[in-house]
This record gives sequence, C-alpha cells and structure tokens, in this order.
Amino acid sequence: MPLRFYNTLSQQVEDFAPARDNTVRMYTCGPTVYSFAHIGNFRTFTFVDILRKCLRANGFKLDHVMNITDVDDKIIRNAAAEHKDLKEYTAIYTQAFLEDCAALRLERPEHLVPATEHIDEMAAAIARLTASNHTYQSDGSVYFRIATFPGYGKLSHNDFSGNIAGARVDVDEYEKADARDFALWKAPKEGEKYWDTAIGPGRPGWHIECSVMAIEYLGETLDIHAGGIDLVFPHHENEIAQSESLTGKPFSRFWMHAEFLMVEGQKMSKSLGNYFTLRDILGRGYAPEAVRYLLASVPYRKALNFTFDGLQSAKTAIERLRNFKLRLETGAFADGLDQSLADRTAAAQAQFSDAMDDDLNTAEALAAIFEYVRDVNTAMDAGEMRSANRGPALACLARFDKVFDVLQPTAESGEMADSEVESMIAARHDAKQARNFALADQVRAQLLEQGIILEDTKSGTRWKRKSS
Ligand SMILES: [Zn+2]
Repeated sequence: MPLRFYNTLSQQVEDFAPARDNTVRMYTCGPTVYSFAHIGNFRTFTFVDILRKCLRANGFKLDHVMNITDVDDKIIRNAAAEHKDLKEYTAIYTQAFLEDCAALRLERPEHLVPATEHIDEMAAAIARLTASNHTYQSDGSVYFRIATFPGYGKLSHNDFSGNIAGARVDVDEYEKADARDFALWKAPKEGEKYWDTAIGPGRPGWHIECSVMAIEYLGETLDIHAGGIDLVFPHHENEIAQSESLTGKPFSRFWMHAEFLMVEGQKMSKSLGNYFTLRDILGRGYAPEAVRYLLASVPYRKALNFTFDGLQSAKTAIERLRNFKLRLETGAFADGLDQSLADRTAAAQAQFSDAMDDDLNTAEALAAIFEYVRDVNTAMDAGEMRSANRGPALACLARFDKVFDVLQPTAESGEMADSEVESMIAARHDAKQARNFALADQVRAQLLEQGIILEDTKSGTRWKRKSS
C-alpha cells in the first residue's frame, strides 16, 4: 500500500510523495517561547517526530523548518513583567524547549529558526503585499485585507462569502471564525521592543513570520505544513492568504493537524489544576520515554486523553518490549530456522509498516507489534525458536523502535547513556587516527571515571560498565 495522509485542505486521505527529488519540504509551527511548553504542545511535536520517522522509513529525505516565535504579545508582556530584555527572556524558554525535545527524543528539524532573525525579510514581504494592494495601513500598523484573497476559508472550510466586511483585529490569536483583516505589522508601542525597517518601525504579526520563513527556506510550495488543530483557523488560513497572495502558487500541498490533548477527560486548563508542562510530569518520576510512548500511541487525528493510568500502562508496555528484546538477545536457541516463525516475523514487519503508512495509524502499528511479541514469547516457551530466527526478530523490533524510540532507557542522572559512551569512543578513535594520543588517553581516563571500561580489539573498541 502507498504512503497516504489525511489532508485538511482536501478533507481526503491522499497518496503522498514529495513534489521534487525525493526530499520532503516540510514546515511546522514551532513554540512561542514565553513559558515552558505543556504536554498538549508536545503531543503535536511528538506527532511531527513520528511523521519525520515515517517519511524517512519510506526512503524520503527531509528538509524541515520549524520556527521559534520569539516575539509576540505574550512574550513582550511577560518579559516586561520580569524586567528582562526580550532576547534574554526568550533565550531561557528556547533552551528549555530544546531540552524538553531532547528528553522526548524529538529529532531537530533541519532548520530551527527564530523569527527575530528574519524581520527584514518579513518587512520586505509586507512591502510586496502592499505593492499588490493586499494591505492597508492604520495608525502605523499594516493589515492584510482578506477581501483581496478569494480563497479565504478554504483550509478551515469556513464559508465567508458575504461576511468579509473589513473588520480588523490587532491580536494574533482569535477564536471566533470571523473573517477579519489581521495585522501583518504592528506599530511600536511605548516601551515595547521594535525594529526599524524599510516599511517603518514596528514588529511583525505572528502569521507573516511563518509564511516568510517557510518560503525563504523551502520555496513557494511546500510538500507538508503541519501543526496543532487549533492553528487551522485563523493562523494557517492567514498563512495561506499571505503566501498565495505573494507567490500566486499553492502554499502547501498537504496540511496535517494533530488533534487536542485532554487531561483525565477534561480540557487542560490552569484553573482546573490539570495543566502540565513536560517538566511537571517528569518531576513526578515518570521516564520521558513513557510520556513519548503515550503521546505517540494514539493516532494523531484522534483526541488524546492523557491520564496517569495511561502513563503507567505506557511504562508497563515499554518494559514488556524491553524484556522481550532481552530474551531474544540472551536466549539459547537450537540451530536452524523455524519457517513458520520466519513468516510470522515478516508478517509483523509488514503489518507495522502498513499501519504507519496508513496516515500514521500508530495504534494499529502497536497492536501488530504486541501480537507479534505474544506469539514469539509463546514460541520461545514451546522451544520452537531457532537461532536463525533471532536476527530477523530483533530487526523487526528495531524497525518498530526506529519510529517509536522507547527501547533504550533514559540514563539515570549520573550515569552516562550508551549513546554518550559511543560518541566518546568515536571521538577517541578520531583522536587516535589523528595521532593525538594524549587526547585519546584523556578520553579513556574520562570514561573510566564514569565507570566505563574500554577494551581495544581487532574489530574495534568494546566497552562495559564496571560492576559496582
Ligand atoms: Zn505558523
């Protein structure tokens, strides 16, 4: 079966392939760095990570841009309240966001771009929209006149005909599906940070940021634009209006949106006391991979009910898989190959891939793996497993983990993760190649301090942890 995704624009499941040269050009709306990101945000970012891994498993390369919104109303308000410079304030939460992403094992997009690094390009785009009569000015701010864009409403499937009255809105986020002219450029306010640009002083609105950076890095038509469902209107609708008015071309071929996350069956809100950042959850002693598993386990187009029971089940599920892997690795099996087990393994791999290719049906993909684990455990209990079945079974598990990435435990504080050890060994190898033996010895000593013992063999360096 071909890879296929639900496209919010067409409201259909469509076969997917990039438009050009095997590379998927993708844009996702990143965080607004005004506080720690909450688990609802990370549901979306985890979906994007799963999407990346599924695209790569299909043989595609990725060129993916994510913006960091480091200027907006909330940031300006919060930074002022804490008497911090805008950059100083956003650096704290940008760093926190990157740490949280790393904890959840979310791959870095190829380009992670702060909005404030592209203010001049945004001003230039606004000037071009003005030259083609898509804007008007009021009190030093520039607004996009949505009556000049006939396709307005095509993503959110709102029918705005007869409703485009020219009312305008200054804030970037508005919930009511009203057709309103929105701010591209905001006039400077007393005491607020502003930029001097070719279109005058001020700062960009949120929507223009994404259009400009997407086109700059990826070209006029993207393969995929992804984000949370709450961004469909007005943010993505406005991105389309601006971008297509600038280029005359479709802005993105596919639009993919992750559904809401609820907590214990309720909408997450600070007043209900069920508002959690990732840090809150990890602070309660849950491993990041359990959070990752739970966020990934529900297909992205279904609302996800985040519960602590669910986290506990995620933990149990991961343990089951790790034990299975250990049993495969360490079991003593008779020589030869059991053909029916070999067929079972191939079938599990195919079911897993088919489910993922079916609009990222992670629930079905997981079901395929757990049925397989049960069957192989039964076969091992019955002594049917043969030595030549071991490799393919581990490969099947590795194929799963390439997407879900939960099998490797997160290092306890103080203990080095395997990947860190490996990368230090690689650094030592490079130092030796460069005949920098002092550095190589230093790396070995550092590892020994961490309780890691190296053994150089003909086939490379092996390592083990010193048993305490
Ligand atoms: Zn955006």
